[in-house]
Amino acid sequence: MRFKPKPFTKAVPFRCLYCLDCCRGRHVYLTLKDIERIAKRGHDPQGFVTFSVEGNTIRFVLAVREWDLGCVFHDPETGKCRIHEANPIICRIYPFMVSRKPLGVEGEKPFHYKGQELWLYYDESCPGINAEEPEVEITPEEIAELGLEFEREFERTDMDGFVKLLDELERG
Ligand code: SF4
Ligand code: SF4
Repeated sequence: MRFKPKPFTKAVPFRCLYCLDCCRGRHVYLTLKDIERIAKRGHDPQGFVTFSVEGNTIRFVLAVREWDLGCVFHDPETGKCRIHEANPIICRIYPFMVSRKPLGVEGEKPFHYKGQELWLYYDESCPGINAEEPEVEITPEEIAELGLEFEREFERTDMDGFVKLLDELERG
């Protein structure tokens, strides 16, 4: 599904409806920390890590099933994530996003957090935002924090680190 950005400037109520939509046809970048966390739950990186060449950089991307482009950890019957406790940071951020630049959406404004200027959005297509009987209230601060964590981890994710991680995992 396509992300339809709406400015996220104040806390919003949220309850995931497991509508099956957001874990299909997505390009989920993985950081080394994500790969390590998931692997330590007993999943072989060969089964969930794929590579994407972007310019002269190799990125690590979550694998999808061939038959419906659903994430390999998505349970098609319940719509739930099979690794919810360990899922990638990008999945924890969704249905929100953190940008370093404005996207040109009406009503957007910068959010200042820990000395950084960020633009935050939520996906209007996600029916869990402002859902009835919400389970949680999501704040811009918590999403900004996750966004900065993702940036830091993504920056240090490279092939050398991946090879080293595989080696460490093999040695236990
Ligand atoms: S689109 Fe929203 S409500 Fe649907 S599964 Fe994803 S996060 Fe949950
Ligand atoms: S890891 Fe879980 S939350 Fe992330 S795309 Fe896969 S099924 Fe969805």
